Amino acid sequence: MTVYNFSAGPAVMPKPVIDHIQRELPSFDDSGMSILEISHRSTLFENVLNDAKQNIKDLMHVPDNYHILFCQGGGTGQFAAVPLNLANHRENIAFLDSGHWNKKAYQEAEQLGYGIDVIKNDGQLPYPNENFDEQLYDYLHVTINNTIEGSTYHPNHLPNVKDIPLVGDMSSNFMAEQYDVNDFGLIFAGAQKNLAPAGLTIVIVRDDLIDPAKHIPTILNYESYAKKNSMFNTPPVFPIYAAKLTTQWLLDNGGIPAMEKQDHQKSAMLYDYLDQSKLFHNNVKKEERSYTNIVFTTNDDDLDAQFVDFASNHDLISLKGHRSIGGLRASLYNAMPVEGVEKLIDVLTKFEQTRG
Ligand code: PMP
Repeated sequence: MTVYNFSAGPAVMPKPVIDHIQRELPSFDDSGMSILEISHRSTLFENVLNDAKQNIKDLMHVPDNYHILFCQGGGTGQFAAVPLNLANHRENIAFLDSGHWNKKAYQEAEQLGYGIDVIKNDGQLPYPNENFDEQLYDYLHVTINNTIEGSTYHPNHLPNVKDIPLVGDMSSNFMAEQYDVNDFGLIFAGAQKNLAPAGLTIVIVRDDLIDPAKHIPTILNYESYAKKNSMFNTPPVFPIYAAKLTTQWLLDNGGIPAMEKQDHQKSAMLYDYLDQSKLFHNNVKKEERSYTNIVFTTNDDDLDAQFVDFASNHDLISLKGHRSIGGLRASLYNAMPVEGVEKLIDVLTKFEQTRG
């Protein structure tokens, strides 16, 4: 039985990676010990961590003046860590209010005592306008892919800031599109959508933004991670191991350019269906549509719920929209095969036919 998992996260992982983990689980690298039990201080694990880091560097062309950190605490942890580390001088931060996760980020910064300015734009993605004074802020925080609303700042439509760092929350399209790391001061992403099981958060941060003199909790301080190769305390061993395998799979399968092409193609298939459907609708502006999280609805809560059941009876799982906005959502991460999208379109069509 093939089940297709459209969950927004934790989410589908590449089948060859799951198979590899299964094969290797009892004895990692012929050590006679499982990856679940080896010490993070062992050379065995240090090699895993360094390989994962190198793979990320290779895949994203991370320049040498950036650190790649393996943190815990998820995207939510970064909502606190980023201001604590970066809002050093002006203690003011600008946010582009593109949806739920941006709001969570500015609420966290605000409750930590930072000044926040929130740029809004009803119905479509906000951008700073010509009156935006960069000098007032330590950085601009952007949710690159809006997991719940299904919209994206694609690489050629990033907000333009010259003198302050752009901070990008890439939790839900990490390694799904080709962004230039140089456009950012900092990128963060929870691994549980496109890379690994939950428990790992990747932070890619430019050297000069790490302040060695910061007095903030060690667990949130980028300096602690940078100085000790993300091993000043026990790192999330298993998710880092899985991230190593997924990044290896990505490298073996054409890297991010190939994923972007495929993710674009998969989402276009679904958007094409939705655009001609008389029952299901997607209301995101075309050039802002996400490749990884496709939201849609019948505009009728009961009917949406009926579709979730109908799909689940056809082995299509987790199509319910986020509880904050309802509706339906299909997450099409790198590991979702084209066949999963074909089957989804087939089942959507069947459901639409039953509605006459
Ligand atoms: N940012 C984005 C864009 C997200 O989609 C999510 C989680 N869905 C978060 C942040 C929060 O991540 P976490 O649950 O890992 O704290």
